[in-house]
Amino acid sequence: RIAYVNGRFVPHGEAVVHIEDRGYQLADAVYEVWAVFGGKLADAEGHFARLERSLSELSIDMPMSRKALTIVLKEALRRNRVREGMVYLQVSRGVAPREHAFPLNPIAPSVVITVSMVDRTVSEAKAAKGVGVVTTPENRWGRCDIKTVGLLPNALAKQKAREAGAAEAWFVDELGFVTEGASSNAWIVDREGRLRTRDTNANILRGITRRTLMDVIAEEGLSVDERPFTPDDAHHAQEAFITGAGSLVLPVVSLDGKPIGGGKPGQVAMKLRRLYIERAKATAI
Ligand code: PLP
Repeated sequence: RIAYVNGRFVPHGEAVVHIEDRGYQLADAVYEVWAVFGGKLADAEGHFARLERSLSELSIDMPMSRKALTIVLKEALRRNRVREGMVYLQVSRGVAPREHAFPLNPIAPSVVITVSMVDRTVSEAKAAKGVGVVTTPENRWGRCDIKTVGLLPNALAKQKAREAGAAEAWFVDELGFVTEGASSNAWIVDREGRLRTRDTNANILRGITRRTLMDVIAEEGLSVDERPFTPDDAHHAQEAFITGAGSLVLPVVSLDGKPIGGGKPGQVAMKLRRLYIERAKATAI
C-alpha cells in the first residue's frame, strides 16, 4: 500500500508525520472521507466544500486547490489500484513546538492521504441483513459541525457498540433526542411512514451523504421531516437507517437490542440505498 504525506507518495509502513504535529498533540486537524466507485470520488463537490469550511473555521489554509487535491486523491487511488473503496484526507495545522495557541509564524499544513478497498459484495450482504445500533449519552464538544480528528468520544461510542455486537452508536442529547451516529447521520421512517432526520442547525455534522440523499428523496416525490427523534420514536418506527461515506445508506434493524421494523431492513431504506448508490456512481468524478 502507498500513502501520501506532504507532497510524496511513500510505502504505507514508512508514512510518518512529526511528533510535534498539532494534529497528533492537539487534534488540531480536520479530515474528509470520500466513497470511491470505479476509482472515482463520490459526492466530490460536497466533501470539498465541507473541507474548505472546516479548515476556514479553524483558520487553516487550504493546502492546495480543489483541482490539485482531486489529482492527488485520484493518484493515491490509482497507485493502490483501488476501484471500490474509500479515500481519507487529513489536514493538520502543521508542526510546531507544543503550545495551545496557534504558532505566531505561519506554518505549512500537514497533508496525509490513505486509501482503503471495500468489497461491495460484502457491504451489500451487510446491508441486506441490516445492523444494530446502541444509544450513548452525547458527550462531545459544541462544534461537531467541524469535521475534526478530535474523535475520542466517537471512538469510545463505537467501542461500546462493538462490545454490544452493534455496528454504530447514536448519541442522545440532554433532551432525549438522537443527535447523530458516531460516524453517520441517523434517520427513521416514523410510524406514520414519514422520513425523519435531525436538522443541521443542531450540533451535528452536515453529512454529505445526507445532503445528496435529500435530493434523491425529493426526486422520488417524497419529503423529509427535518426534526429530531427520540430512541423511543425509533423503537416505534417502521424503519431506521444511517447515512455516511462509509455506510452509504445502511438499514438499522435494532436499537439497544430491541428490534426495529420487525428486525428486518425496511423497503424504503433499501430503495434509498440503491438510488443513492446509482446517483453516486453517475456523478462521481
Ligand atoms: N456524522 C459523523 C459524526 C460522521 O463522522 C460522519 C462521517 O462519516 C457523518 C455524520 C456522515 O457524513 P458524510 O455523509 O459526509 O460521510
